[in-house]
Amino acid sequence: MFNQYPISDEIIKALEEMGYTTPTEVQAQTIEKILNSEDLIVNAKTGSGKTAAFGVPIIEKIEKKGKAPKALVMTPTRELAIQVAKELEQISKFKKIVCYTVYGQHNIETEIKNLDKGVDIIIGTPGRLLDHLERETFNPTKIDYVVLDEADRMLDMGFIDQVSMILKQMPKERNTYLFSATMPFEVRSIAWEYMKEPDTIEISSDTKTVDIIEQQYVKLERHEKRIYLDRFLALYQPQGCIVFCNTRRCVDMVLEFLKQNKYKADALHGAISQARRTKTIEAFKNGKFNILVATDVAARGIHVDNLDLVINYDVPIDHDNYVHRVGRTGRAGKGGKAISFVTGEDLMTLYEIEEHIGVMIPEGELPSYSKAHRKSKQVAKKTMQKKLPRFEDEEVKKTRVVKGTARKPERMPKPAKKTKQKATVKTDQVPTNKVSAAKTAEIIQNYKANKTKKSFWQRLKAIIKR
Ligand code: ADP
Ligand code: MG
Repeated sequence: MFNQYPISDEIIKALEEMGYTTPTEVQAQTIEKILNSEDLIVNAKTGSGKTAAFGVPIIEKIEKKGKAPKALVMTPTRELAIQVAKELEQISKFKKIVCYTVYGQHNIETEIKNLDKGVDIIIGTPGRLLDHLERETFNPTKIDYVVLDEADRMLDMGFIDQVSMILKQMPKERNTYLFSATMPFEVRSIAWEYMKEPDTIEISSDTKTVDIIEQQYVKLERHEKRIYLDRFLALYQPQGCIVFCNTRRCVDMVLEFLKQNKYKADALHGAISQARRTKTIEAFKNGKFNILVATDVAARGIHVDNLDLVINYDVPIDHDNYVHRVGRTGRAGKGGKAISFVTGEDLMTLYEIEEHIGVMIPEGELPSYSKAHRKSKQVAKKTMQKKLPRFEDEEVKKTRVVKGTARKPERMPKPAKKTKQKATVKTDQVPTNKVSAAKTAEIIQNYKANKTKKSFWQRLKAIIKR
């Protein structure tokens, strides 16, 4: 219960309204320490409730006096800044703390005016925050608390220098909190440079949220991706689904395909204007459409209730992004599925991801058209025949002509025993089926030495069985 902490009734009441009755593990471990003014490095997976973990104690401690901000929260993206601000506003609803968000593409004049009116918590992306510091429109002298949210992503996005420049301008007498789902070495070292003997809190990943995500990968050819995207959507009928692509072009293409096929879908990527991105996220959260096609940057940290399916249309190149993508589903204890589309070229990347998360992701079955659409009541029988060819790429059509028969249900890899087992994202537990590093190196070497895909997997499976 939140009332076990020395937190004012105003905040407890707000948390009740938000439906937060019991603190999540990360909240249970951080709230008191932040209340006691300790610097913290918190490593907890995505979806574990990190925002309230710093939001609750900081809002409790902030004193509303003067115009200058008392707390600063840095986030790597605009979307995340807006999301964090929303949560902080909810928590501080009765305490009437003023939260304000600054980010690139936002009108700077408006921002300046609002900052001038007085702000208690400033939330923003590093570039824009620096801009305000340089213009002296953000007065940092009263800052007591600094939060680096999703610090690993700030590193990835090349913000670390800007973050350091901002930290250097903050008052020495302050507390700094670093929150991250993964903790690359560079982030840790930055932390040590700018923090006062921080305590490190690592939340082991075997707690609910990510564990209940059922992960699988399917092997397919590049030109089959669209067909199977349609089939998995038909099969699982997700209430909410994010389809991740590696490039903007791919996002646009997939969106067009989904729209053509009458799915309720929209897209997010860096080239879409901020105003539209914000609207899109709102509409997605409100269930106006149920399939969001996005790149990593645009979807970072976004959480939506009822997101029950994540599809990696492309395998993420950055291994941490796998964790972040998959973590979009299974939020706050709800189950979810994650499917990765893996082509021959992606096999090594997938393998590296498995190494990274320390778990074997089981191979799933490619659903046949009839299996996929049996469930889909909306797809009326008569449209079934018409619909199929439209999903297919030219190449697939050609294959069909060559074979001279209707396309058989695609290869149905025998559902290996593994298929049933649940894979989970665990960062700090060594699962029993993990292959030793030496063996891994050996397998990779053999694989690189032109062994066939098949023999690679056979060897891998054989080794795991041992
Ligand atoms: P993270 O930053 O660790 O990825 P968030 O702070 O975004 O996680 O929270 C993830 C989800 O869990 C959000 O939907 C949030 O509203 C919800 N949540 C957070 N804390 C609680 C709580 N104590 N009780 C119920 N839901 C919570
Ligand atoms: Mg977060």
